[in-house]
Amino acid sequence: MLVKSIKEMQGIVKKWKKEGHSVGFVPTMGALHEGHQSLIERAARENDRVVVSIFVNPTQFGPTEDFDAYPRDLEKDCSLCQGVGVHVVFSPDAKELYFPDQSTMVHVSGLTDVLCGSKRPGHFDGVCLVVSKFFNIIQPDKAYFGQKDAQQVTVIKRMVRDLNLDVEIVVCPIVRESDGLARSSRNVYLSPEERQAALVLSRSLEVAKNALNNGERNASVLKAALLSCIVQEPLAEIDYVEIVDSESLQVLKGKIANSILIPVAVFIGKTRLIDNIAYKI
Ligand code: AMP
Repeated sequence: MLVKSIKEMQGIVKKWKKEGHSVGFVPTMGALHEGHQSLIERAARENDRVVVSIFVNPTQFGPTEDFDAYPRDLEKDCSLCQGVGVHVVFSPDAKELYFPDQSTMVHVSGLTDVLCGSKRPGHFDGVCLVVSKFFNIIQPDKAYFGQKDAQQVTVIKRMVRDLNLDVEIVVCPIVRESDGLARSSRNVYLSPEERQAALVLSRSLEVAKNALNNGERNASVLKAALLSCIVQEPLAEIDYVEIVDSESLQVLKGKIANSILIPVAVFIGKTRLIDNIAYKI
């Protein structure tokens, strides 16, 4: 069932809660693929009712980013949702969700100063604002996010903790194509040549993982190995490559000792792709 009105969505949730149903929520920007599907299927297994939001959120795009070009196919998304146990696809209009004089911001400091936060100023403010609005409207017991957007997961978890929001954040593993490319709605932008070049992201992370498995513990050496792999791909332009502490997201330079995250952001032509691996020492 497709719901556009916020009031109607709130009414449905109220009824579900009265009937004692648990509610799982999967926020997305649509152009659904198997990555989204894995979140939805998990939500369907763990909850009585499932809501998927499809909303290309203008406030999380920068002025030079791809908001207008972002792929949209609500009809196809709805039919995918129907096949995997979704009860409501919630797709409000931006005009109803945002007030012309919207004055409230949700800013998570510190964690958003690095990685995508520093490369995409305001991005996480937009994400936190829209996710807070959806949490308030949908009142989910559990909300499902992909490890693909590792910094987003860390920021959302901190927001939920800091604001005492009563929702459990469930993190789902990265779903990849058979050749290793992380699934993304933005992969449709890639020409066949760029699609091949995009494999450099997962390949560079494999290089780092192998080095870690072989005992390498120096962050700078690991970073150098990643960089030298990526620069071999002529169509790739590095946005960032870092070795960070997986909780604080602080950049590590010397010896690594705890759980680390290796996030990479790389332009392939005009398309900006991200990927990461988490590793426990
Ligand atoms: P998006 O529509 O790109 O905003 O993504 C919606 C949710 O799906 C986010 O929590 C993403 O992290 C998650 N997601 C996107 N791609 C993947 C993937 N390849 N594997 C797992 N989760 C993903």
